Amino acid sequence: MTDAEELRARTRTLLEEHPPATTDRTDFLRARFDAGLAWVHYPVGLGGLDAPRALQSVVDAELAAAGAPDNDPRKIGIGLGMAAPTVLAHGSDEVKRRFLRPLWVGEEVWCQLFSEPGAGSDLAALATRAVRDGEDWVVDGQKVWTSSAHTARWAILIARTDPDAPKHRGITYFVCDMTDPGVEVRPLRQITGEAEFNEVFLTGVRIPDAHRLGEVGDGWRVAQTTLMNERVSIGGSRIPREGGMIGKAATTWRERPELRTHELHRRLLDHWVDAEVARLAGERLRQQLVAGRPGPEGSAMKLAFARLNQAISGLEVELLGDEGLLYGEWEMRRPNLVDFTGRDAGYRYLRSKGNSIEGGTSEVLLNIVAERVLGLPPEPRNDKDVAWKDLAR
Ligand SMILES: Cc1cc2nc3c(=O)[nH]c(=O)nc-3n(C[C@H](O)[C@H](O)[C@H](O)COP(=O)(O)OP(=O)(O)OC[C@H]3O[C@@H](n4cnc5c(N)ncnc54)[C@H](O)[C@@H]3O)c2cc1C
Repeated sequence: MTDAEELRARTRTLLEEHPPATTDRTDFLRARFDAGLAWVHYPVGLGGLDAPRALQSVVDAELAAAGAPDNDPRKIGIGLGMAAPTVLAHGSDEVKRRFLRPLWVGEEVWCQLFSEPGAGSDLAALATRAVRDGEDWVVDGQKVWTSSAHTARWAILIARTDPDAPKHRGITYFVCDMTDPGVEVRPLRQITGEAEFNEVFLTGVRIPDAHRLGEVGDGWRVAQTTLMNERVSIGGSRIPREGGMIGKAATTWRERPELRTHELHRRLLDHWVDAEVARLAGERLRQQLVAGRPGPEGSAMKLAFARLNQAISGLEVELLGDEGLLYGEWEMRRPNLVDFTGRDAGYRYLRSKGNSIEGGTSEVLLNIVAERVLGLPPEPRNDKDVAWKDLAR
């Protein structure tokens, strides 16, 4: 087993052989991946060393001290947080070797083609179909709310391959090439004025069978790997104390004493404490991840994150009074990054509305907590054994 000392030595060798000051950023990241120091808990040859996940911090500290460049987790959030663990758990060796390196280095951005106009919370009802044709699958359908589809090279995609099976059983999971001529990406403008997400139309898109993850018809189980990791990656990202939304509100509070009232003071303190509790609970969740158990508790974390972001950004707008109503600009942009805390208070307030929808709505996450964490009786599901083609739509 690789221990901390060995990792430190390997990191120093990497730094000697590829001095950050004189090495191209991408070349450095590629060399880091090849040295197994990208995500140390991944297998040898796939950016890791089969080491305990907790030891990543040893590598990160050495690299940060040497001023080494890092990849940009915000730019590659979907790839890193969702596609990579799914590819690792369910992809063939060839698929893992092809996709993980450019994903981690940030050379290839990923998006998630799951939601459809008639299948969001009830994702298993999806209608995009994939039909086998020789060595390929031919995919037709429409996806929606696809973050980063306009910058993505690859997508994780779920499609119906057996309409005669009940809805959860006739789904298969694929990796889709977003540069295929059958893929059309159209921007959807959001409440913020930006178009982070898109509609995606798939017409006769050919996906090689080699780009299937998991067995035919087993896509729902594969999707669970993605969804579990999605909630943890949205709700449990590492932030410093007073990072995120509470940091913005606290800064305004400190810098603008003339805006303070007793009532707002009380609410700010309540939110500060809640934010700190959520931050520390997120730390615990990450430790669970280190132990290889993303778990349904990630849903509670994501729920808390959404509620807090909305409450704190609302407080900040209130604190700023008339100023809080000013909105920077309304020019339509298609940003490369999803930026929860960026721009002005009005932007934060509007962007946080999406926090309780993206990655699973708060209502649905409450159902998951009720059923899978608390063991309460499940919602009635009358359509479990009905063929998908016979469901009312
Ligand atoms: C900013 C943003 C980014 C997104 N990015 C992506 C992406 O990259 N890829 C992707 O695939 N999707 C993405 N989505 C889609 C998102 O996952 C869906 O919008 C979400 O799952 C909800 O589905 P829906 O919009 O169809 O709403 P519906 O499922 O129609 O829900 C409507 C309302 O009914 C409630 N509801 C539904 N079922 C139940 C139930 N059983 N019990 C109680 N209440 C219920 C919901 O909570 C919600 O309030 C994104 C969404 C947003 C807002």
